[in-house]
Amino acid sequence: MATPTAKDGSAQLPPVTNIQMVDLKAQYAAMQDEVDKAIIDVVRSGAFINGPAVKQFQAGLEDFLGAKHVIPCANGTDALQIALMALGLEPGDEVIVPAFTYVASAEIIALLRLSPVMVDVDPRTFNVRAEDIEAAITPKTKAIIPVHMFGQSCDMEPIIALAKTHGLHIVEDNAQSIGAIYTFSDGRKVRTGALGDIGCTSFYPSKNLGAYGDGGAINTNTTALADQIRKVANHGQNRRYYHEVVGCNSRLDSIQAAVLNCKLPRLEGYCDRRRMAADYYDANLQGIDGLLTPARQENSTHVFHQYTLRVDGGRRDALQEHLKAAGVPSMIYYPVPLYDQEAFKGTAANDIDFLPVTDLLCKEVISLPMHSEFDEATLAYIVETVRRFF
Ligand SMILES: *Cc1c(COP(=O)(O)O)cnc(C)c1O
Repeated sequence: MATPTAKDGSAQLPPVTNIQMVDLKAQYAAMQDEVDKAIIDVVRSGAFINGPAVKQFQAGLEDFLGAKHVIPCANGTDALQIALMALGLEPGDEVIVPAFTYVASAEIIALLRLSPVMVDVDPRTFNVRAEDIEAAITPKTKAIIPVHMFGQSCDMEPIIALAKTHGLHIVEDNAQSIGAIYTFSDGRKVRTGALGDIGCTSFYPSKNLGAYGDGGAINTNTTALADQIRKVANHGQNRRYYHEVVGCNSRLDSIQAAVLNCKLPRLEGYCDRRRMAADYYDANLQGIDGLLTPARQENSTHVFHQYTLRVDGGRRDALQEHLKAAGVPSMIYYPVPLYDQEAFKGTAANDIDFLPVTDLLCKEVISLPMHSEFDEATLAYIVETVRRFF
């Protein structure tokens, strides 16, 4: 593996300044005319809510995911909440969720007075595994929320089998992995989000498919569920002013849909470019003692929402300081296990206060800049800065 060196052969590259975790400005610059026009068109049309741009995006996303029904909504957290509301769960019902994830995956369980049951994850893929889920199933278990972490699908085939055996709903948290493709053992390929009963995603600006504000979507292949989801997201009504259930108000606005319509056809390209950056990191960060590059599964493509390293020996925070001093941003996703969060004390049905892999990952993970707009000089500088630490 070549260690990048400066053109003159010296070991240290000249610093690249203004490196971003996510470069939204460069991505915008590459499609400025198209996005500007799409936004202005919405403003001129006055159709700010549920306008044609929203319908177009819904159809486009159905096509992309291979999902029968897409229901756009206000953000990814709402998507998860609405999904659970639509399943008609009762207070006290247990929902299995990984302890190593963004808070939203578990927050909505507790918010709805359901009981989160936290389980450990795989140390190499960061994803929940069927065996850990199976061990947590009780007679009260009603649903599983597999979170496709950092851009890769959970190993869904055994999880789907478990859900069938125990009569459980699967609500996928696909906020980080839209675009990834899972391959079943018979060769069948399905996009993440379209593997379970309901898929939920987020269009937060820094996600792989990001809007210019908040946005989210729910998808399902079950028509009855889609009707219920639509109803819940719209104040519990199908017919205006006739409210059948207590719902909420969660919509994707037309301006965000217009932006997403420009970006959706580019999503595959964005994922390819993220993968190219990950390939570069992988090739140039091998063979460093104490540093693990992210594992790639055989049964899932990786869309690299994050490029997440593990650093052993208690040196993670020192690496972050070293990177910062050299102008290289990095993030810790996530520093605290969910069971250690103040908000979840006493809410977890399984009384978990320690899971070994989650605990270890929270101490070892660090994510490098990752987006679709790198030039090689920037990647070379980041890699060289990491290598200099070890
Ligand atoms: C971003 C994210 C969410 C929530 O999305 P918002 O649109 O910010 O509400 C949920 N789950 C995971 C795993 C996420 O990364």
